[in-house]
Amino acid sequence: MTPSKIDTSLPLLDLHHHLDGSVRLETILELGLKHNLPLPAKTLEGLRPYVQVSDPQPGVMVFIEKFKWMVGVLVDYDACRRIAFENVEDAAHEGIDYIELRYSPWFMAEAHGLNPQGVVEAVTDGIRAGQGQFGVRVNQIGILSRHYGPEIAHQELSALLSCKNEITALDLAGDEGNFPGEWYVDHFKKGRDAGWHITIHAGEITGPESVWQAIRGLGAERIGHAVHAVEDPALMVYLAEHRIGVECCLTSNVQTSTVADYPSHPMSTFLNSGVLATLNTDDPGISAIDLHYEYDLAAPAAGLTAQQIRQSQMNALEIAFLSKNEKQKLIERKQKK
Ligand SMILES: [Zn+2]
Repeated sequence: MTPSKIDTSLPLLDLHHHLDGSVRLETILELGLKHNLPLPAKTLEGLRPYVQVSDPQPGVMVFIEKFKWMVGVLVDYDACRRIAFENVEDAAHEGIDYIELRYSPWFMAEAHGLNPQGVVEAVTDGIRAGQGQFGVRVNQIGILSRHYGPEIAHQELSALLSCKNEITALDLAGDEGNFPGEWYVDHFKKGRDAGWHITIHAGEITGPESVWQAIRGLGAERIGHAVHAVEDPALMVYLAEHRIGVECCLTSNVQTSTVADYPSHPMSTFLNSGVLATLNTDDPGISAIDLHYEYDLAAPAAGLTAQQIRQSQMNALEIAFLSKNEKQKLIERKQKK
């Protein structure tokens, strides 16, 4: 076995990880059977092809379809609490020191008519229990799902604001092609006023203009994916100079056909241009990967050198939504191990 590319003297971070895209297959099956839900199969192996992706899909929205089996089992707040807890447990088993778990409360609430605020409370409860038991440091990122439109996004924002102190950052995700960031300027002003950090899914489906809008219109300090940013040299310089971090998700981008294959991914171009690019999982439950896969298999396949992989690990610590003091603590804890 080749040794892992992860530097174990440095903290390991996953900054782009959807809680509602990371439900264990076993949990889907168990909750589905317990609540008599219409599952497409009644065994793990039977269920796998419906929930997980193995071959590239024709676009992000086809990929997003897979989420329905994950949120479909969120029949009550206990289920929401459970999947949050299990995400922290899985992170601990992977040796992750700090993870930012993101989710769209409206999306999680929708299938079974839950109250989005109740979802945020249940997730908070599950994360707290997981942190206490496993010692992984966790921060929450609240997502506004673009595809419900600006009106519902206001209600989703209210649910997140009801637990303002539990949330670290606000994100915009979903159908970037049909629901432009311009529609969400007011929401993100409120998010910034609440003291939250801002990260935006941009440049995944549409071009560099969407990344500019995320920065200038929504106040993004980090960008999720940003694949199309490489088409605009001025934007690349801007990202590097303003230390706007990029959350790369290599396998996700291959599976959604955002890039043709790993070697076509622009992550090494980001790193060569001085952009603070990082390695993350996105939806590991759907992609059937973990963070180790991204470091050890996806990153080398995307042409990253060992030094660039280590740089990505250091970049994650730099752009994490943590104070200087908290970052220092993560480093010290690692050195003591
Ligand atoms: Zn994402």
